[in-house]
Amino acid sequence: MSGTKEKPFKIYFRLLKYIKPYKRYLGISIVSTIFYSIFSGVSVYLIIPLLNTLFSQASPKIISAAANSGTLERLRVFVLNLMNQFVFGGTKSEALLKICTVIVSAFLLRDLFGYAQSYFMAFVEQGSMRDIRNALYRKIQALSIGYFTSEKTGSLISRITNDVFVINGGVTASFVTLIREPLLVAVYLCIALILSWKLTILSFLVAPLMLIVISRLGMRLHRQGDLSQRLIADLTALLQETISGIKVVHSFGMEKYEIGKFENKTGSYFKSILKMTHIRNLSSPITEFLSILTAGVIIFYGGMEVIQSHTLMPAEFITFLLVIFQIMPAVKELTTVSTRIYESSAAGKRVFELLDEEGSIPEATGAVEVKEFNREINFAGVSFRYPTSRIGKSVVNEGATVLRDLTFSVRKGEVLAIVGPSGGGKTTIIDLIPRFYDPTEGNIYIDGVNLRKVSIDSLRSPIGSVSQETLLFNDSVRNNIAYGFTECPLEEVTAAAKAANADEFIKQLPQGYDTIIGERGTKLSGGQRQRISIARALLKNPPLMIFDEATSALDSESEMLVQEAIETLMKNRTSVVIAHRLSTIRNADKIIVVDNGEIVQRGRHQELLRQRGGLYKKLYDMQFSD
Ligand code: ADP
Ligand code: MG
Repeated sequence: MSGTKEKPFKIYFRLLKYIKPYKRYLGISIVSTIFYSIFSGVSVYLIIPLLNTLFSQASPKIISAAANSGTLERLRVFVLNLMNQFVFGGTKSEALLKICTVIVSAFLLRDLFGYAQSYFMAFVEQGSMRDIRNALYRKIQALSIGYFTSEKTGSLISRITNDVFVINGGVTASFVTLIREPLLVAVYLCIALILSWKLTILSFLVAPLMLIVISRLGMRLHRQGDLSQRLIADLTALLQETISGIKVVHSFGMEKYEIGKFENKTGSYFKSILKMTHIRNLSSPITEFLSILTAGVIIFYGGMEVIQSHTLMPAEFITFLLVIFQIMPAVKELTTVSTRIYESSAAGKRVFELLDEEGSIPEATGAVEVKEFNREINFAGVSFRYPTSRIGKSVVNEGATVLRDLTFSVRKGEVLAIVGPSGGGKTTIIDLIPRFYDPTEGNIYIDGVNLRKVSIDSLRSPIGSVSQETLLFNDSVRNNIAYGFTECPLEEVTAAAKAANADEFIKQLPQGYDTIIGERGTKLSGGQRQRISIARALLKNPPLMIFDEATSALDSESEMLVQEAIETLMKNRTSVVIAHRLSTIRNADKIIVVDNGEIVQRGRHQELLRQRGGLYKKLYDMQFSD
């Protein structure tokens, strides 16, 4: 596991940068926190006059500090006198009323500031989390297609959901703690020191001990945290895979196997979380015991001061105890900050791994816009190998050379057909045209401009494609056809559907063009889906169309309907067609036969048929003997 060697604090500071845009809200929250702490202190301090009113017989006299007393002692006497003068002006009941009013107001103010502090901090927290999620999603949209073949979908989803959630619990929560608790500790500590510095020091003798214990546990927690987040990512990946592929699982009778695999993973996750809980909760009893031990010592020692040496008033001693026991949880809370930072930086590391990914296709500086496609597309000595895919540092799949030294061109208005045995590299060739990948060697030109210099958006806009796999979104038929348009009149959508042989079946759907299809909607047959995707392409009306075995997954009846639609789509356009039925490309202007990444034959249908012993003739004969 590589997660432990990273510097957690470096990641933490990088995460803090996401808080920067919310400086103002953070400011308001911090100011509220300061007032919250002050009023917390005040409300505790008011216990002294309250107890005095209730328990002492006569109004307290003005007392004076001993001549040799220190600053703290003088301060204590001063505050005490001040309060006494204010409270005990009239009768005892008047004093009680006064004190109750003040206590209620102090608590009210404290809670108002407490509310403001939490609200504005939530703004900062949720705002920065939103920004991280958005940045991740933007990154995912920018990454090249190649990245997604090596990275599991589920693991990506997990980073955006689980990991960002953990960061939220860590970075911002610890940030709140880092501001509020020290302030509270400071205020309470002041009060405690004023009341009795000796007792205060005594209480804090144990604190360093606690800190050592906690920071030890923090390191272990970090390691476990990283592991468990990776496990949950695995789990999400497995879920995503098996749910979307449930048909395959069932038809191979692999349910038991998949259940076993899943339970194995939930088991590891269970263990890992338990281990984390164990480590985290181990710190509680230890610190608890240390605090109770301190408490015993303080109560004994302080009690002696009240009973024997009379250096402390009973009301003051009780207040001191209250204050000290408020400090303890605050200090304890502070000690958990480091563990939370460790946890969240482990998640932050995975988030940054994705944000720092360099898998996007580079856009040239000063990229050229190709508004239209006017003359031709040229492949000049193009070779290609898929990037080596790795998990961590280990190579999973060494990229082999898939295309070798391809040179050919498609002129405007022509139909270019690519044929050849499966695995020969046909799909790879057409993926290079919209720059899903860049060639490893050689160049591709559109109207004489190197694709690497063309702006990606302007390159993809004149290209339409229909392939074997059709992707329909969970949206209405109408919006699926008009995908890519913000607004499109219904007449144009129906016209496209008519041309794609789709209008008829769409009208028969429960809500016609407004029927929701795709993942959660009405199910369509393969041929129907294909015709919707052809209608989509017709509506986009691109000058260049690419077809990748668009009819190969269909039965012969819907194949005919789809084939007709394809022919409509090819009219008055430049097309690159990968066809699995050679009969459909009789009229192609050019045919290239690709085998094992190389062009082995080129020409027109009749010429290629005449080349006896050629691959084209062989493929053709094979189809007609079927
Ligand atoms: P065709 O479309 O002619 O059937 P492809 O272009 O899909 O062939 O594949 C050509 C070769 O490239 C095959 O050997 C295939 O295994 C390999 N290949 C395809 N996609 C990838 C990928 N994403 N990563 C690595 N290798 C790939
Ligand atoms: Mg293919």
